[in-house]
Amino acid sequence: MTTNYRHEIVGVFGDPVDENPAILMFEAAFKAKGLRWRYQNFHVRAEDLGAAMAGIRAMRFRGINLTLPHKIAGLRYLDRITPEAALIGAVNTIVRDGDALIGANTDGKGFLMALKLNANLDPTGKRVVVLGAGGAARAIAVELALAGVRRVTIANRTAQRGEALAQLINDKTSAQAEFAWWRGDYTLPEDTDIVVNATGIGLFPHMDDKPGVNMDSIKPGMLVCDVVPHPPRTRFLIEATAKGAKTLDGLGMLVYQGAIAFTIWTGQDAPVDVMRQALAEVFA
Ligand code: NDP
Repeated sequence: MTTNYRHEIVGVFGDPVDENPAILMFEAAFKAKGLRWRYQNFHVRAEDLGAAMAGIRAMRFRGINLTLPHKIAGLRYLDRITPEAALIGAVNTIVRDGDALIGANTDGKGFLMALKLNANLDPTGKRVVVLGAGGAARAIAVELALAGVRRVTIANRTAQRGEALAQLINDKTSAQAEFAWWRGDYTLPEDTDIVVNATGIGLFPHMDDKPGVNMDSIKPGMLVCDVVPHPPRTRFLIEATAKGAKTLDGLGMLVYQGAIAFTIWTGQDAPVDVMRQALAEVFA
C-alpha cells in the first residue's frame, strides 16, 4: 500500500468567517462517511478574492463555499455556472473539475428539500409570499418559481430590489410574480399557502425581533418558514404556531444546502441526520 497523508480540502471563503459553523456539520459528515476530507474556514477579504480563487486551482482544493461578501463577486472567477445560479445571480458552492471552477447555488435548493422532506409539502401550484429580496430571498424565490409555484409575492422594504426580483421571475420562469412594498406590518394575501421570512430579522442575538407581519393574517393551514437557522425556533415561528400555522425552520435549509454541496464535492449521499445533529448542538 502506498503512503498518503494528504487530505482532500474544501471549506468556505468569507469575511467575517470565524463564527461560521458549517465546518462542524461538514467535518461530522466526513467522519461519519469515513472520508479523508477536511473543511476549513478561510478568512478572505474582498480585495483578495481573486488570489484566493486562484488558490483553489493552485492548491488543488476539491471545492469551496462562498459566503458574505463573496457570493456575487465570485461569479467573475468561474469557468462555468449552473443555469439556476446564473438566474439567481450568486454562487455559494464551487467545485473544481480539473482546472475548471464550476459555480452552483445550493441555498434555494436546500430550502426546497427542507420544504419537501421536513414540511412534507409539494410547492407545485402554491401561492407564496417571500419577505425580503436579498441573496437568500433571490435563491428561494427563483427555485420556488422553477419548481412550479403559481404565484410569488416579493415583499421588500427597498422597492427597487423587490421589483427587480419580481421582474426576473416574470421574465424567466412560468410563475407569476408581483412586488409588494413592505412598510410597517404587512398583511398577507388571504389565499397565501406559504410565507418565508428571507431576511435576517430574528437572528441571534436579536432573538426578540420579528419581521413586520400582521400576525392576524396568518391562518391555520398556512406554512410559515424562516431562513434564520439560529435560533431554529424564531419569535416569528413561535407566534405563527400560536396562530395555528405549520412552521419550517431555517436549520433544515442550512443542513440541506450543505448536504447538496457535500454530494457535489464527494459524489456521495450526505449523512443528513449527522449534519443536522452537529448544527443543532451549536444552536441549542
Ligand atoms: P442580504 O443582505 O442579501 O438581504 C437581506 C434582506 O433582508 C434584504 O431584502 C433587506 O431589505 C431585508 N431586511 C433586512 N433588514 C430588514 C428590516 N429590518 N426590515 C425589512 N427588511 C429587512 O442577506 P441574505 O439574503 O444573504 O441573508 C439573509 C438571512 O438569510 C441571513 O440571516 C442569513 O443567515 C440567512 N440565510 C440562511 C440560510 C440557511 O441555509 N438557513 C442560507 C443563506 C442565508 P432591503 O432590500 O430593503 O435592504
